[in-house]
Amino acid sequence: MKILPLKEGNRVLLRVDFNVPIKDGKITDTRRIDATLPTINFLLEKKVKVIIMAHLGRPAGIGYEEKFSLKPIYEKLKEYFPQKIFFCKSVLSDDPVVKIKEMDNGSILLLENLRFYMGEKENNFEFIRKLALLGDYYVNDAFGVVHRKHASVYGVPKMFDSEKKAYGFLIEKELNYLHKKLKDPQRPYTIIMGGAKVGDKIKLIKRMIDKADHILIGGGMMFTFLGVQGNMIGKSLFEYDKKDIAKEILEKGKDKIVLPTDSLVVDNIENPNYIEEKNIKQMSRSDIGVDIGNETIENFRSIIEKSKTIVFNGPMGIFEDDRYANGTREIVAAIADCKGVSIVGGGDSAASIKKFGLEDKISHISTGGGASLELLSGKDLPGLKALE
Ligand code: AMP
Repeated sequence: MKILPLKEGNRVLLRVDFNVPIKDGKITDTRRIDATLPTINFLLEKKVKVIIMAHLGRPAGIGYEEKFSLKPIYEKLKEYFPQKIFFCKSVLSDDPVVKIKEMDNGSILLLENLRFYMGEKENNFEFIRKLALLGDYYVNDAFGVVHRKHASVYGVPKMFDSEKKAYGFLIEKELNYLHKKLKDPQRPYTIIMGGAKVGDKIKLIKRMIDKADHILIGGGMMFTFLGVQGNMIGKSLFEYDKKDIAKEILEKGKDKIVLPTDSLVVDNIENPNYIEEKNIKQMSRSDIGVDIGNETIENFRSIIEKSKTIVFNGPMGIFEDDRYANGTREIVAAIADCKGVSIVGGGDSAASIKKFGLEDKISHISTGGGASLELLSGKDLPGLKALE
């Protein structure tokens, strides 16, 4: 981390990624919070006032929504930093200004979810100005959002001179891995993509065609590709507005992209009357593909075994449900067995590694999904640009 000339009592705005999974008001995986602790502790040791900016989920941006409140995160931070942490519900009022003035040096103020305000996503100037006025310095350690041109990630740091802003230890670690190690990857270099949302990832797949040797596609996104090839995919996920780019990718990457040849299908995800493995060519109108099949697992495994660099982003099926977890389980086990460098990006992928107890066997589990892919595909990241 670039060393900032911090003095006791300075106010440091710190953007973090606390976008953790929460169930019934309780955090189920604290990894993203834990990953930021080195930077928070470093700042507290400098006896500065740390003003934490974060988001949770995707609220509408028109005000408070209980299920996206950072309150559970505040409760967790109270365990980590007893008597040193305060919470501010109303970010745009005078409340944060007053609280920052009153709090002791070496303590923390957590601001409520910035995405309750439209200004965050819209990178709106008034919003940027309000936030920027709260700090003397700016530090970004939110690797998970450095690819977003949001106010707290992009607009706010631009308001600070270059000697007054830096990235934190987490971003430094991610860059070491994703940038330095993968600039010139050991080959064969295989990328395994899955998950539900093609929209978020499809442009990156296109860019990755030039970099990778193999691109294996599973998960819900496989059906958009299989669908545009003219296969009957029944009621499986299909992103209609992505069909042209999917076709283009299949054409451009025809020597590199490997699609599943079979799938586990059901008629109803929650209460299936049947769960069957089918060749893709035999799928019917009522089928919903929920996982990759055994032939695909074997095919993917044989490519993974020979790879020297592997990037895994997105599960192969609805792995949260044990009935549909086999494909993801087998693929992550194959990745864990592989001797080369293995990198896992994205919350769901990291969760699948955790679920199957293979965390120790992966070279690097990134805290950012989209951000890590954008970095690997050679794109500039706005959040890093704004720190230059
Ligand atoms: P993403 O956020 O795009 O990485 O998607 C992750 C989610 O994709 C996980 O919650 C999985 O349950 C889901 N998923 C994986 N495969 C499928 C599938 N075949 N149909 C529907 N959802 C899926």
